[in-house]
Amino acid sequence: MTDAAERLASVLAGLDRACHLANRADRPQLVAISKTFDADAIRPLIAAGQRHFGENRVQEAQAKWPALLTETPGIVLHLVGQLQSNKAAEAITLFDVIHSVDRPSLVTALAKAQTAANKRPACYLQVNIGNEAQKGGCALADLPDLLAGARSAGLNVVGLMCVPPAAVEPAPFFALLAEHARRLALPGLSMGMSSDYETAALLGSTVVRVGSALFGMRD
Ligand SMILES: *Cc1c(COP(=O)(O)O)cnc(C)c1O
Repeated sequence: MTDAAERLASVLAGLDRACHLANRADRPQLVAISKTFDADAIRPLIAAGQRHFGENRVQEAQAKWPALLTETPGIVLHLVGQLQSNKAAEAITLFDVIHSVDRPSLVTALAKAQTAANKRPACYLQVNIGNEAQKGGCALADLPDLLAGARSAGLNVVGLMCVPPAAVEPAPFFALLAEHARRLALPGLSMGMSSDYETAALLGSTVVRVGSALFGMRD
């Protein structure tokens, strides 16, 4: 096996282990976060069978993905980073899934862009689950209003997303996000990264966003 295939197999095995423990039949969707890595680093993972990829910057994704998408049909592209409203149209054009809808102004911009593009990506509402000043995501208290606004604007909201605080046990934050998704009857839970995807899978994550465990450390 190539390095990429070995890393992919190891992450999938970790997810399977967690699913077995949690007695769940459905493995979370693995999104390979390829930010900072170029096409030559991405191709081996595609060759190993990975189809869902994620980027955190629209411009970087525009530079490397159109060519890769032409090479391989069936790639699903996810945007996981903070999105400026003035990039909404470009994001709608390139991405199939947007994980970072976190404020009314962005909802408005995305709604306008998806009408213009006649395309309706799946969206996750990003929650600032640790209530951190420097982080993106909406406050838990604002979540019901954000969801109502996104729905009435016509966004296809499928779930909630979070990035828990760094360097503390993430499980309580994952459990809290899962609880809110349940209350709001949202089926999707985008949570879990390289250091905690098994914990996230145990707590009901439906999508994990894994970068360095698949690509190696970023500079
Ligand atoms: C970079 C990033 C990831 C992947 O992080 P790793 O720790 O490398 O797995 C996941 N989600 C978001 C929002 C990111 O920006």
